[in-house]
Amino acid sequence: MTSKPAYRIASIPGDGIGTEVVAAAIQVVEKLAKTLETFQIEFTHIPWGTAYYKQNGRYVPEDCLDILRKFDAGLFGAVGAPDVPDHISLWGLLLAIRGPLQLYANVRPVRTFPGTKCPLNTATDGIDWLLVRENSEGEYSGQGGRSHIGQPWEAATEVAMFTRVGIERIMRFAFETAQSRPKKQLTVVTKSNSMRNGMVLWDEVAAQVARGFPDVKWDKMLVDAMTVRMVANPQSIDTIVGTNLHMDILSDLAAALAGSIGVAPSSNLDPTRKNPSLFEPVHGSAFDITGKGIANPVATFWSAAEMLSWVGEKDAAAKLMLCVENVCSAGILTPDLGGTANTQGVVDAVIAEIEKLK
Ligand code: ATP
Ligand code: MG
Repeated sequence: MTSKPAYRIASIPGDGIGTEVVAAAIQVVEKLAKTLETFQIEFTHIPWGTAYYKQNGRYVPEDCLDILRKFDAGLFGAVGAPDVPDHISLWGLLLAIRGPLQLYANVRPVRTFPGTKCPLNTATDGIDWLLVRENSEGEYSGQGGRSHIGQPWEAATEVAMFTRVGIERIMRFAFETAQSRPKKQLTVVTKSNSMRNGMVLWDEVAAQVARGFPDVKWDKMLVDAMTVRMVANPQSIDTIVGTNLHMDILSDLAAALAGSIGVAPSSNLDPTRKNPSLFEPVHGSAFDITGKGIANPVATFWSAAEMLSWVGEKDAAAKLMLCVENVCSAGILTPDLGGTANTQGVVDAVIAEIEKLK
């Protein structure tokens, strides 16, 4: 008798609609596991977030990394609350985990989804891109400081720190990812005309790594020009790699071009697989709709599918995505996509689709 693989998942719903969409995804994934009977999955609730912060004075406990390392992967919702400055909540939770766990590759697939409309009339077939964001250094290294506080000559520095090792590993990951896609095409985004150290190193390392991937067509582009290309010539793009800051911005643009931030997923990967990877919707805690039961759970379903695929359940992941696409194609959509369904309505519809897989 062969035993089914069993996965232990840390569920970190966090704040705002994060709690609603993670609860929705857990229902759907548990149903999928029960129906397919090819794997087992167990979610363990981890209460880190702003409520935890208000009680304990910190977003995560001191041994948070040891706790996470016991799991195969994590499913994260969102962090942030209206009464806590964003840089405190973000550094308190997400950035406190991503760096030490070396989740250096942030992968964001962007695809026009059934039920969403690409606002570009140049993209008649919709868009299908894969964005790779360097997730561990660069502009978000947290290096720098402030001096002469409160004086007119107060100064602040925010140092973008890049290392050859850091650039090389994300570049290699991006080339491998591009190579695995049908178009085998990669655009390296930098700003090496005006930033003459780190960005020039990016260009140099890109050219070196590219030599190992002769079958990948690659080009490089300044980030400002890239925004124009994404809007004016979307079909010329396939895989994109860039720095933490640049891809933070480009991926929001990409999500909007694909139709809605409510469907955009992301994976924070440790490609060496030494540490558990973390999967989360691109959107934040969205307090304007928190508690209304209308948050779009699709971005978290898609993130959960990416998680299943990463831990080894590619077939289950593909089936989950098919169920979600069928529901969206049938017009069962939350208000952000112009529909009238609520979160639970979408969950129920996806569960009904999963039942058909029996
Ligand atoms: P954060 O500060 O954590 O980034 P936010 O309040 O800025 O959170 P975002 O997630 O950035 O919110 O989203 C911006 C807006 O898009 C939200 O205010 C909300 O109206 C809408 N939105 C985001 N995610 C969803 C979703 N899953 N379903 C429906 N609407 C969403
Ligand atoms: Mg936001």
